[in-house]
Amino acid sequence: MAKIRVGVNGYGTIGKRVASAVAAQEDMELVGVTKTRPNFEALSALRKGYDLYVPDESVEAFGKAGVKIAGTLKDMLSKVDIVVDCTPGNVGEYYRDMYKAAGVKAIFQGGEDHSLTGISFNSTANYSESWGAQLSRVVSCNTTGLLRTLNPIDKAFKIKDAYVTIVRRAADPGDSKNGPINGLEPSVSLPTHHGPDVQSIMPWLSISTMAIKASTTLMHVHTVVAELEAEATTEEVIEVLKKASRVRLVRSKDGIKTTAQIMELARDLGRDRSDMYEIVVWEDGIKVVGNTLYYYQAVHQESDVIPENIDCIRSMCKAEKDSAESVAKTDAALGISKS
Ligand code: NAD
Repeated sequence: MAKIRVGVNGYGTIGKRVASAVAAQEDMELVGVTKTRPNFEALSALRKGYDLYVPDESVEAFGKAGVKIAGTLKDMLSKVDIVVDCTPGNVGEYYRDMYKAAGVKAIFQGGEDHSLTGISFNSTANYSESWGAQLSRVVSCNTTGLLRTLNPIDKAFKIKDAYVTIVRRAADPGDSKNGPINGLEPSVSLPTHHGPDVQSIMPWLSISTMAIKASTTLMHVHTVVAELEAEATTEEVIEVLKKASRVRLVRSKDGIKTTAQIMELARDLGRDRSDMYEIVVWEDGIKVVGNTLYYYQAVHQESDVIPENIDCIRSMCKAEKDSAESVAKTDAALGISKS
């Protein structure tokens, strides 16, 4: 079977990771990536051997800077089956129309609203909904994190209500513009958009969310309280999460007390860019009291959505019918395992 030809529009935090992940798949070919400016990231892409494409209005700037391009964004679109749009949030509508005109399928990211595509994606919760679709959207890092744990818990014990507080990283590590760099900033528009975003994939789930921005760049942390319909013990919940796809249990008593040690573990695992694709749950922080379940989880915002983008490509391009098969292929290529 011919490889799926993939282009990546926007080579920032998410785009560069999607590009490497596509290049690592046996059934996909990375046709190229786009950059708007000839900065160090454009040179990094060239160094990796990726073809660079640019919007029409950037051709001159790349020429002046002497940075080699393979063509324009439109040229890239003429060579791909699917484009993964990794541009910043809220420019999606403009690009959606361009992709439509070029007749290519497109995946958007969580910075865009569900209404842009009408379909949102998570690998285990709703893989088949994007089957053959022209457009889909991989939900945000926080929403992906919540789906990875709430979906298997709901399947096992049926969640009556979930209450989540999201402690958000203020900026990504490569970002020096955002903040706060001192203090904690609550989101005062309540409940936050994260609950409805989870419902774009699990519409039956009753979930309420709040969020606080914190002066850290490493990861988000979620505190989750879930009222369960079925009886459950702490040990049974641990077993469900141990088996859950792309969820990694760690223990505070083994020295992983903070997100800093989680990222140190990610470095020890030796993966591309030291990414932690899994949602990390503190095993000794899981507790059931009566019908109420409590746990903490950490989300590596730069990377947890990357395997989801790869599975979404397979679903939209009808390359693998079985979600578990696609997840297994993606995980093998990215080095994600339970050990
Ligand atoms: P980013 O700012 O790191 O990268 C965006 C890239 O798009 C950059 O290469 C930039 O040069 C380019 N760009 C800027 N304006 C453009 C335009 N008008 N047209 C084409 N390209 C343009 O952003 P990011 O963090 O990678 O986020 C991309 C998407 O992924 C957003 O929807 C975001 O909400 C979502 N997302 C981000 C994270 C995260 O933590 N960074 C996590 C999950 C999802």
